[in-house]
Amino acid sequence: MKLTLRDSVEKVPLVGPLQAKKLKRLNIESVDDLLNHYPFRYDDFTNIKKISELVFGETATVIGTVVKIENVYTKNRKNIVKAVIADETGRIDVIWFNQPYLVKNLKTDTHVSLSGKVDEFSHHLALISPEYEFSTLNFQPSTNIHTGRLVPVYPETYGLSSKWLRSRISSILENELEIGEVLPPEILKENRLLGLKEALLKVHFPKNLEEAKEAKRRLAFDEVFEIIYLAQKQRKKWQTEKSSFQLSTTTLKPKLTEFINRLPFELTNDQNKAMEEILDDMKKKTPMNRLLQGEVGSGKTVVAAVSALATVLSGYKVLYMAPTEILSNQHYQTFQKLFHGYNTKINLITSSSRRNQNFQISSAGRSDQILVGTHALLYQIGQIEKVGLVIIDEQHKFGVGQRAKLLDLGREDNGKLPHFLTMTATPIPRTLQLTLLGDLNISSIENLPNERKKIKTWLVPKYKRTDAYHWIKNQVAEAGAQAYIICPFIDESESETLKSVKAAKKEFESLQKMFHPLNVGLLHGKMKSGEKEEIMNKFRDDEVKILVCTPVVEVGIDNPLATIILIEGAERFGLASLHQLRGRVGRGNKQAYCFLFTDSESPETQVRLKSLEKIKSGLKLAEADLKNRGSGTIFGSQQSGPFKTKIADFSDLELVIQAGRAVARFITKYSESDYERRLIDHASEGNKEIHGD
Ligand code: ADP
Ligand code: MG
Repeated sequence: MKLTLRDSVEKVPLVGPLQAKKLKRLNIESVDDLLNHYPFRYDDFTNIKKISELVFGETATVIGTVVKIENVYTKNRKNIVKAVIADETGRIDVIWFNQPYLVKNLKTDTHVSLSGKVDEFSHHLALISPEYEFSTLNFQPSTNIHTGRLVPVYPETYGLSSKWLRSRISSILENELEIGEVLPPEILKENRLLGLKEALLKVHFPKNLEEAKEAKRRLAFDEVFEIIYLAQKQRKKWQTEKSSFQLSTTTLKPKLTEFINRLPFELTNDQNKAMEEILDDMKKKTPMNRLLQGEVGSGKTVVAAVSALATVLSGYKVLYMAPTEILSNQHYQTFQKLFHGYNTKINLITSSSRRNQNFQISSAGRSDQILVGTHALLYQIGQIEKVGLVIIDEQHKFGVGQRAKLLDLGREDNGKLPHFLTMTATPIPRTLQLTLLGDLNISSIENLPNERKKIKTWLVPKYKRTDAYHWIKNQVAEAGAQAYIICPFIDESESETLKSVKAAKKEFESLQKMFHPLNVGLLHGKMKSGEKEEIMNKFRDDEVKILVCTPVVEVGIDNPLATIILIEGAERFGLASLHQLRGRVGRGNKQAYCFLFTDSESPETQVRLKSLEKIKSGLKLAEADLKNRGSGTIFGSQQSGPFKTKIADFSDLELVIQAGRAVARFITKYSESDYERRLIDHASEGNKEIHGD
């Protein structure tokens, strides 16, 4: 049966509804998705040996005949499969644990190829749990997929092993599958890229690492090309949009000035500049599309507030979305304070707010509304009239689809769009800005308010842990400090798991003892929102002195009185996240401190973490991170950074620049529909983060 890329995975031989369901957990639904499920490493089983030549400790492949195979059970009822394999030079024992069905598969006299580490079992050389597959005696590495070659290892999910994925991917590639080219031949040639089909074959089953690298380069090029292409297209489209309203600053100016004068502090130069840029944009017929990028704690919220006020005073509404409930809540409270006396109706929308507020949107007589909330905004409010400004805080935490959806909620019947302000403290290095964003407008707040002192940061050696605790206790008890203690982030994923909550709870109990009689609080993402709010309020009111928490506080939380942060398991975070976390302190005018703890003794980790001691600017850290990772990494940390990709690494600047040039050339020569038609058969709609939208 002939497959096409767009077929469902269920069309692949031996993939049934059950497997399809499991594949979905890996975001794999079509044949194309499965082919684009790339290995994250290769096991090198190319060392093919005769049995008599095997050396203890080496990784090798042998081809032989099953002489004997049986199930045995240990005293504590564990299953072991014991086999003897022979070739013309000798015999070797082979052991597998807990796979009793193997005796049915690998009967005596079958020819097998085995790959694995040469180990020892009851004082004899043995292969322990090797990879195996049937073989002919004149072994051909090209026909084998699990042994005797570079063997791809994939991201797995429960019930779907790499071996299974490998065999299904191989069966697709063996199929006479039509894989057309996405890129025109001249671009392939200029950039010395493999053809798409060849790249797919080689990324899964390369002969050597050089081949794998070449294949990855081609596939990564496609990803970056697509991201840049779509960004360009969005930008072009944006320029034809009309804004829902234009500010008339002359009448507004005095009112905004009054608002600013009432603030308990003076705006910094950077804040003033950002504000001017935003107000200028909002005077235009094209909707604003501006990214406000600003160091952690630099005061982006108040700039957002001024923009919101300008909008509200013009009779339009504001939607303000933030990634977490705690943060939305905080913004809600901040806005209520800032807008005190302005008779502005501000509402909070989160998944838990719906129940306790009888919230209702009706445009009549409510022209002065500000809606603050989490992504619940997207689902709970429906289309709204007269939205003049959409603000997204910590925008990198949202997918491009979510951002577009919020904006669209504010689109008017006549098609006009609200102004759009996105904010982030995770800066995009300038080199990437140029290529990827072109003319997306960026405002930067680079300097912190004047009286701020630099946060003193230390990577603390293990033996000084108790000292650190004592020091913190002292600071809190004697000097009235408040502290965050961030618990280890157990899971790799960004979302919080029960496991990390458990770890936090345990840490909390022992820290309570440690800091007795100080009031220690616990905050984690699995708490009810009322509880979260209560504990945050207590912390802000200085009732709770030390807050033990999971990294839920990472973004945006503001308690100017907190001056100490201790981060456990620091090696698990990227520099940008650590910088964000550190930014929870030093938000007032007192000296602040950040202690980093790690169990890792790897010199690279130590160097990486130590760079936080010296580098205090988020932008510089992002650039250092980019440099550290270097350009030619094949298996770079793909999922991090501002753009989510499967295989491309945005720290590979050379690739980004090449793809950028290719897009520019492509656009002059081909029509949009041409590329899109090519893409339809190839692109799987991922969560691509595009800032140009
Ligand atoms: P971020 O840019 O990280 O979102 P916030 O907007 O939360 O930072 O501001 C951090 C803290 O700095 C807040 O407590 C805010 O009130 C305060 N702040 C903002 N601007 C100034 C300023 N110009 N001078 C002094 N403090 C300021
Ligand atoms: Mg913020």
